[in-house]
Amino acid sequence: MPIFLAGQPQRVNSIFCIGRNYAAHAAELGNAIEAEPVVFLKPNSALLAEGLPIVLPDYSHDVHYECELVLLIGQDADDVSAAGAMAHVAGYAIGLDLTARDVQSEVKAKGLPWTKAKGFRGAACVSGFVAANLVSDATQLTFSLMVNGEPRQRGESALMLFPVAEIVSYLSRIYGLRAGDVIFTGTPEGVGALQGGDVLALDLHGMVQASWVVAR
Ligand code: MG
Repeated sequence: MPIFLAGQPQRVNSIFCIGRNYAAHAAELGNAIEAEPVVFLKPNSALLAEGLPIVLPDYSHDVHYECELVLLIGQDADDVSAAGAMAHVAGYAIGLDLTARDVQSEVKAKGLPWTKAKGFRGAACVSGFVAANLVSDATQLTFSLMVNGEPRQRGESALMLFPVAEIVSYLSRIYGLRAGDVIFTGTPEGVGALQGGDVLALDLHGMVQASWVVAR
């Protein structure tokens, strides 16, 4: 099932993710705040469009939800400034950076990459995108996650340690961004474990809604 922007299916390319971008979330996991963005990637095959079931990996007993603002890159960006960055953003979505926290803790302790904790099939849930021209100020967006009807996470892009424009500029400088790339911008506090049967309802600033159900 494709991801849509204004009714048009999008071919998602690389999936970049920013870690520790909200001070309160870094604190809840006992992590330091870094001087530059913490970046990791998920394979394209981790993408899960709305309506498809979340299947928890059988090698983890502690898969966490992380509700995040997601960007879609509309045109290639190489070494762009923060001032010029937003022209490369085509749309905004709400998504889940699913994380096998037990696996992540193990690999972090060993100094190994996070891929098995963050990149499993279905670990990158992304809603439809709202066109960027309908968002007047990406630094003033709110978003939320309800699990089984109870509020679990509420985020404000104003609280990001690295704002959206700086993230796009940074990624364009180090890696280069290509049309179709998506960027998970980090999660606020309130992360927690998923159980089979959980129903997750996400909202981006009253503009985009999406829901997923965890398979039993
Ligand atoms: Mg995250």
